[in-house]
Amino acid sequence: MAKRELDIQGIGMTSQRTRDRLVGRLRERGIKNEAVLAVMGKIPRHLFVDEALATRSYEDTALPIGHGQTISQPYIVARMTELLLAGDPPPNKVLEVGTGSGYQAAVLAALVKDVFTVERIEPLYRATRALLYDLGYRNIRTFLSDGSWGLEREAPFDAIIATAAPETIPPALLEQLAIGGRLVIPTGKQMQAQVLNVITRTGESSYETVAHEPVLFVPLVSDRQ
Ligand code: SAH
Repeated sequence: MAKRELDIQGIGMTSQRTRDRLVGRLRERGIKNEAVLAVMGKIPRHLFVDEALATRSYEDTALPIGHGQTISQPYIVARMTELLLAGDPPPNKVLEVGTGSGYQAAVLAALVKDVFTVERIEPLYRATRALLYDLGYRNIRTFLSDGSWGLEREAPFDAIIATAAPETIPPALLEQLAIGGRLVIPTGKQMQAQVLNVITRTGESSYETVAHEPVLFVPLVSDRQ
């Protein structure tokens, strides 16, 4: 087998058995969407973190990815993806705010047609863009910009997912949702009680919000005032 394939497959603490154990834990914690579980059982999360952390990459925890940012905890990735896909009809075109390591984008790319993802920290944007290309993802488009403005030129989106928490929801994200589309977004102050919200656009100017579980995210840093 080629070295690249071996790297992707992993060994020991990064092997398929370890990924299967993580899937078992996600199932125990209440993730029900089998397609999400199957995808997370395949994607080599160990390649989305620094090599020094690879052996911890299938623990159900967030891990540092540099620049004060983290790769989200697998349970949270699974939960947000499950909530995002629960729309009717399921989304084809999805915007992610907060590319970070690219892991959430990779999970989405296996489940929807097109993923657009926005990151504001240039070195993260560059490294992740290269990694996703290297791993063969061709339906993820990466952008360097402030995602609190959404991604106007590609709007509307069937669904939007934010993997960083603003205190209040940026209006652009609501405006760039297709009617019937949903926004999955944590809100709240840094290091205080944050909550995971699902907001569905039910009409031109009507929205329905459902608050789900408490969560802990890095802040959505906005250049807008
Ligand atoms: N989805 C990522 C999670 C990374 S943490 C993953 O799977 O690894 C959240 C990311 O959001 C960080 O990389 C941070 O730089 C980014 N971020 C914060 N505010 C942002 C903004 N206004 N626009 C775009 N990205 C933002």
